[in-house]
Parts: sequence; C-alpha cells; structure tokens
Amino acid sequence: MRNFDYQRAGDVAEATALHGNDHSADFIAGGTNLIDMVKLDIMRPQRLVDVNRLPLTDIESLDDGRLKIGALVTNTDLAYHERVLADYPVLSEALLSGASTQLRNVATTAGNVMQRTRCPYFRNPARPCNKREPGSGCGALEGINRNHAVLGTSDHCIAVHPSDMCVGMQALGATITVEGPGGTRDIPFEEYHLLPGDTPEREHDLNDGELITHVTLDAPIDGARGHYLKLRDRMSYEFALASCAAVVAMDGDAIREARIALGGIGTKPWRSHEAEAALSGQPATEQTFEKAAEAAMAGAVAHRDNAFKIPLAKQAIVRALATVTAQR
Ligand SMILES: Cc1cc2nc3c(=O)[nH]c(=O)nc-3n(C[C@H](O)[C@H](O)[C@H](O)COP(=O)(O)OP(=O)(O)OC[C@H]3O[C@@H](n4cnc5c(N)ncnc54)[C@H](O)[C@@H]3O)c2cc1C
Repeated sequence: MRNFDYQRAGDVAEATALHGNDHSADFIAGGTNLIDMVKLDIMRPQRLVDVNRLPLTDIESLDDGRLKIGALVTNTDLAYHERVLADYPVLSEALLSGASTQLRNVATTAGNVMQRTRCPYFRNPARPCNKREPGSGCGALEGINRNHAVLGTSDHCIAVHPSDMCVGMQALGATITVEGPGGTRDIPFEEYHLLPGDTPEREHDLNDGELITHVTLDAPIDGARGHYLKLRDRMSYEFALASCAAVVAMDGDAIREARIALGGIGTKPWRSHEAEAALSGQPATEQTFEKAAEAAMAGAVAHRDNAFKIPLAKQAIVRALATVTAQR
C-alpha cells in the first residue's frame, strides 16, 4: 500500500497554494477516475488536494450569450440544466450517453476534461506504455488494439481519448479557464488536449499546480440544432467505438454552418474542420454527408484490429447529420 497525504481546500487560492507546483500532488474532485488510477498503481500521488468544497458549482449565463460552467458542476447537473437542454442539446446528449447515473452524479466537469485513457496497456503497470512510462514502448501498436485511435496517432501512442462530454464541447466551441501559481489563463478547448507525438505523457496544456476553475461554452450558433450519436458494443455503460457530435444551422435547404466533432477514434476529442468545410453551403443530402465523412476520416491510420472504426465513424457522421438536419 502506498500512503498519501490528504488536504481539503476551502477556496481556489487555498487549493492552488496547497498544491504548489508539486509534481507529486493531485487535485481530487469526484474521484471516479483518480481513485481507479491510484488503485491500479498508475497514478501515485503523494498528496491529494480535495477541491470539492470550492465554490465552483454554478452554471451562469453570460450577457454575451456564452455559458460559464463551474469546474465542480456534476455531469448530471450539466446535462439537465435548462440552458444546456435548450441551447446546447448536443452536450446534454453526450453527457447522458456516458458512464452510469451514479457516476454522472459525482463526476465533475473538470474531472471529465482531465480523465485518463482507458487503453488497457496504460492501465496495466506490467505492460509497456509510453504515456505511463516514457520510453518503455507502446504495447498497443503490435498488440490488441481494437479500441484504439485511428486519428492523431503516433509511433509512440495510439490510445484513444475516452470522453463523450469533451466531444460535445469540442463541437460547440469552448474555453477552459485555469488558475495557478502564474495567475489565470484562458485556453481554447481545441488546444487543451495534446496530440501524443513523441511525448504521449503530455496529455494537456495544464501546468503543475494549475486548477481548472470553469469551462465557458461559446454562444450558440443562431438557429443551430445538435445531436450526439454514440456507437458502442452495448447500449449503456460503455465507452464509444465511434461517436459524432453534429451541430448544424440551415439556410433554407442549404447548410449555413456546421460543427463536427468525433469521439472513440482520436487520441484527443476530435474536431473535424475538414468535414465542416465539406458541409458549408451544401445541400443537406446523403451525398453531402458522405463527402463530409470521407473528408473527416481521410487521414485515418488503422492498426491490426481497429480498421473497422474508419467505416463505423463515417456511418456515425452520416447518421448524426441526417438526424440533425431532419429536425427542422
Ligand atoms: C466505469 C466507468 C465508466 C465510464 N464511462 C464513461 C463514458 O462512457 N463516457 C465518458 O465520457 N466518461 C466515462 N467515464 C469517466 C467519467 O466521466 C470520469 O471518471 C469523470 O468525469 C471524472 O470526474 P471526477 O470528478 O470523478 O474526476 P476525478 O477522478 O476526481 O479526477 C480526475 C482527474 O482530474 C483532475 N482534476 C479534477 N478536478 C480538477 C480541477 N478542477 N482542475 C484540474 N484538475 C482536476 C484530477 O487531479 C485527476 O487527475 C467512466 C468512468 C467509469 C469509472
């Protein structure tokens, strides 16, 4: 057993001060991911700073139409918030497709952003994993890789990003605000999660000691509708094999603006500007949707067991677009 210290912070300043920029400390929120990692002996914090008492549980509509979501807002509270249901249904659907009711009741917004991959090689300390142990190799590259990524991979890591919520946020556009020893920073959601490249251990743009205080969604696109489609091995309590968050605004029969993000197939929550460009100004037909799907997956690289994800993701895109454009 590994012992660790536990400290409870009362406000943001105390939380960041308690953490310092100590690499061996971690914040703990709902604990649904972190405690798993500790039990598996993958994360070995020497100090846990409990942030659950921080006043970061509000969801606030801003005057400019954006929505500010406190880091400690639970996945359940966010999914059922009236503004999310009315203006950001794609996010509500994404949240409700994830985990289970019990988990969503304690899982927080910041914890979801920060959750680690479910790659079995990462989660098993007896296996090589460049993300967990830089330089040890990647067991998945030549191993069992059915669930792994086909976009954003490198020769060092093909682990898939597991979040559904982040895919919804990626499509909507958002900003992550963090506070730490160096002050406050805003990070565009699209730049927050990092591609593995040759440093897969660096998963996000957060420095030691920085705390996520809130996520702010962009103002909704005028007249847009959204839909999240998640394809998986069973219909609940399962991570995505491929998922698509589609947000579309129409101008008559033509697509005025579209946002496409994908889950289950990328090493980070995947925004497809290629698909969006293929949709812009085009008629909302199956042929258009298929072109967008081809564009989204053009750069996909399959490994031994996961080639099926490429056509699966294309089908998810086509179906999500057909559903969202049929809602008019
Ligand atoms: C069985 C199971 C099934 C699941 N299925 C799904 C699914 O289908 N889809 C899906 O999207 N997710 C799924 N999840 C993941 C779940 O959504 C996450 O575990 C959860 O969102 C993490 O939130 P938390 O508050 O519990 O985070 P914690 O476990 O407390 O923390 C996770 C990480 O976030 C860091 N952290 C927490 N708060 C902050 C902060 N304010 N600032 C900086 N860092 C912070 C912690 O230090 C830690 O590194 C599943 C989880 C389990 C256990």
